[in-house]
Amino acid sequence: MHATGDPFRLGLEFFSARKDVSHAMMRQIKAVLIDLSGTLHIDNTKIPGAVEALEKLRACGVPLRFVTNTTKESLSVLHGRLTALGFRLERREVFSSLAAARRLVERRQLRPLLLLQPEALEDFDGVNTEKPDAVLVGLAPDKFNYETLTEAFRLVLDGAALIAVHKARYYRRPDGLALGPGPFVAALEYATGRRAEAVGKPECEFFHSALAELGCRPEEAVMIGDDVQQDVGGAQEAGLAGLLVRTGKYRPGDEATISPPPWHVADAFPEAVEHVLRQLELQRSGSVERAEGRPGADQ
Ligand SMILES: [Mg+2]
Repeated sequence: MHATGDPFRLGLEFFSARKDVSHAMMRQIKAVLIDLSGTLHIDNTKIPGAVEALEKLRACGVPLRFVTNTTKESLSVLHGRLTALGFRLERREVFSSLAAARRLVERRQLRPLLLLQPEALEDFDGVNTEKPDAVLVGLAPDKFNYETLTEAFRLVLDGAALIAVHKARYYRRPDGLALGPGPFVAALEYATGRRAEAVGKPECEFFHSALAELGCRPEEAVMIGDDVQQDVGGAQEAGLAGLLVRTGKYRPGDEATISPPPWHVADAFPEAVEHVLRQLELQRSGSVERAEGRPGADQ
């Protein structure tokens, strides 16, 4: 019996259809989304071969967006860091969770208490922060102290909106893994009994907004990243194909922690680009259908 109109049943059907899209080889790759930290660079160190690989990807003409959850520095600071490392990218190509958070704040006309690092505040220039009616949490090591978190806790308890730029549990910095904003958002959620609204990866809307700028449908796009949950799992939930790289925050066995598994796993960004270029070559030569039928071709 087809349970037309049954939201639960329809949800299941949508979910299984979505799985099929991300698990099968795509018919067309029309856009590539690329994570930054851990995928192209770690702080001021670039992933070996990443600058050259990005140039190769650009040379094939496929539209790109750099989708980042980096919240500890503004877009201009981040852009300056990447260009200093030798990456060629334009500011308009960076789709950041901070910018998405600002759009949300403006749309809802909120006055946020900004738990952000000083380097990130530039992206909120002009936003009214007097008498806060919202708490916006990014990665803010300087703000994650008892008094500031208590101020945020009191605001949320009194009805302020709780917004997480994203909820990453941890990230990679040069001296090892370090706590992300997620544990601090979780502390506020636990203390207040409220649930934060998240903006960046792995939210479907975030991926879809990035693709909307490119006029591309989710099933025509690939997301490359080092975070199996946020980059790959999130992208695949949103209908894209997820390509995991074994750099940055990657830990052995990560690929087995999501279902369906990543569309592809590569040692690093250069190998990921090679895989995408091979698929583009197949689709240009009209051989995609054969590639689709080859068991294990994409694993
Ligand atoms: Mg990353």
